[in-house]
Amino acid sequence: MGATSSRYIISGIGGSLLVFALTTFFASDENGPSVSGIFNLGNTCFLNSLLQGLSSCKTFFDFLAKVSVRLKSKDPNDVIVRELKAFLRFLKEGKETLRPNALVNSLSQRFPHFGQQHDSHEIFYVIQESISEVNKRPLRSLKIPDLNGMEKEENLKNPFHGLMSTEVTCSVCGHKSFTLESMFDISVTITPSLEESFKILSTEEIIDDFQCQRCSIEASLEILKDKRHFPSEIFWKKVETLRKSLERRISVDDAEIVIFRKQRASLCHKIARFPDILCIHCKWLVQGPLGYIQKSTAQMKFDLNLEIDWLMQKKLCLNPSQNTVKYELRAVIEHLGGSLGGHYLTYRLNSGVWYLCSDVDVREVFEDEVLRAQPYMLFYERVK
Ligand SMILES: [Zn+2]
Repeated sequence: MGATSSRYIISGIGGSLLVFALTTFFASDENGPSVSGIFNLGNTCFLNSLLQGLSSCKTFFDFLAKVSVRLKSKDPNDVIVRELKAFLRFLKEGKETLRPNALVNSLSQRFPHFGQQHDSHEIFYVIQESISEVNKRPLRSLKIPDLNGMEKEENLKNPFHGLMSTEVTCSVCGHKSFTLESMFDISVTITPSLEESFKILSTEEIIDDFQCQRCSIEASLEILKDKRHFPSEIFWKKVETLRKSLERRISVDDAEIVIFRKQRASLCHKIARFPDILCIHCKWLVQGPLGYIQKSTAQMKFDLNLEIDWLMQKKLCLNPSQNTVKYELRAVIEHLGGSLGGHYLTYRLNSGVWYLCSDVDVREVFEDEVLRAQPYMLFYERVK
């Protein structure tokens, strides 16, 4: 065991005895559990549960191992990714109960409010942001990578990364605005089943403050028409630009627009590219009968296999395919308690066996227990 690993493993005689007791108590076989528990360092169960979920996804583990990180850098994102890589490597070994001190310290330095964050989904985004920052750094063409402490890798694709399209249609003029955005997860409303939640995901929303470019251009041209008695070169150039954009249905720079019009519009999200790991975030906060925000107690049915067929893709996707997109469940993060506090735990798959991980406690479970969980985050890995 190297020097680095000692940061994560409880040390000293007392610690060893404690680890022995835990591993013996929660052992799945004579060699101890094949999934390590993680010590709670003070309200860190939200992080522990996420780490268990991430480590259950092989494609993420393989991706992270290849991310170039500057080994001696003190840049907070480098430090977070470096510590995450190290921690997940020891978690994968599944031999000891681990202490995530170094990773917690790195997150605390980057995000001063880390200690007050008690949400696995929020910390998921914090970690993904750091990985993105490190991963998007221009690659250096080093013949001897070790000279600058760089690991060499090219064109790495984060398996959580997918694309989401948003189409907004103005209810007044019918103008459509289309954008493509990166996504690392999908947030769904809790319904009796995941399939039903997917259907809601693709339902149109109505918004009242869509800044419609076409309506704005038409209104701007009306205003400029009244000012045509004071012509100047700049004036006519602006009018010409706006007219041409209307004819050709192309966007113009906002600086050209004289007045903006906000209109009622319909908004629709579609998946443009499926990620290799589909992280599903269940929106558990709902408005209670007295108007207060509270945690939903509804049970949502989900399965070990997720198949998105042609019919579902027609609702969900920008470019539906005849091929069914198939995923397999790897982990479920559950939250016990209410909206003001509680405890996070994770059901995760490891070598074909399901485990329930609650900080240091790890025990084998049957599939039906996993499927009875009230999911907060689901991790599905794509099967090709
Ligand atoms: Zn419009």
